[in-house]
Amino acid sequence: MKYIGAHVSAAGGVENAPLNAHEIGATAFALFTKNQRQWNAKPLSMKSIELFRERCEKYHFKPEQILPHDSYLINLGHPEQEALEKSRLAFIDEMERCMQLGLDRLNFHPGSHLRKIDIADCLSKIAQSINIALEQTQGVIAVIENTAGQGSNLGWQFEEIAEIIDQVEDKSRIGVCLDTCHTFAAGYDLRTQDACQKTFAEFEKIIGFNYLKGMHLNDSKGALGSRKDRHHSLGQGEIGWEVFRYIMTDSRFDGIPMVLETIDETIWADEITALKMMTA
Ligand SMILES: [Zn+2]
Ligand SMILES: [Zn+2]
Repeated sequence: MKYIGAHVSAAGGVENAPLNAHEIGATAFALFTKNQRQWNAKPLSMKSIELFRERCEKYHFKPEQILPHDSYLINLGHPEQEALEKSRLAFIDEMERCMQLGLDRLNFHPGSHLRKIDIADCLSKIAQSINIALEQTQGVIAVIENTAGQGSNLGWQFEEIAEIIDQVEDKSRIGVCLDTCHTFAAGYDLRTQDACQKTFAEFEKIIGFNYLKGMHLNDSKGALGSRKDRHHSLGQGEIGWEVFRYIMTDSRFDGIPMVLETIDETIWADEITALKMMTA
């Protein structure tokens, strides 16, 4: 079973996300459980939590169909201790919000070295941050998103993600989300069936599909290997439709939330319909 949706708005409260997802015909969704550009947020109210759970039930969204995304401010590999502590606390708060909502995974960007420490050191800090967060929470999988490799962001090469996973103690609570735009911008070709076969074989070899806990379905404005994180609507960017056909007919992508972060939300319903038709 393929679960397909989009990163929907949670404006007015997290309880609106399942509603917004249902309205565009989604069978999966992503959301922010707090304002993604602010450090502090009010705790979720009991009413919000109850309504969120009720609506997920009503519209048939199980935890495996939902991929919450953490705040953009968090850097689990921050080179400076004070900022690192701040990020770690904020990440634990995000995990706790997921627990309250009955969700089983949290998607995050691994972190940046900000050109102040070397890559290996930064990867270790990230893994250590994950270990701390897993120790202090229960039931939520930390899902590392691969990046485009923009600036000093790590996690664009599959090897870097594998290295983080290697240093995480509880392997049952670590996972990966592949973003098709980021993958392509990082230099992994996805433009043809052959290219997809090669790229995903490499993913299997270096990381493993057993860790795949979500997908971000985006086309890319940037060229192959451009290291630019610039999303486009499906079929309108440098990647084209072929990768989505590949994903929709490959059982290794079953049972995980696959969400659009494409730039024109007025066509999300159409993009979801097009993807669903490819699964038939
Ligand atoms: Zn993404
Ligand atoms: Zn992106």
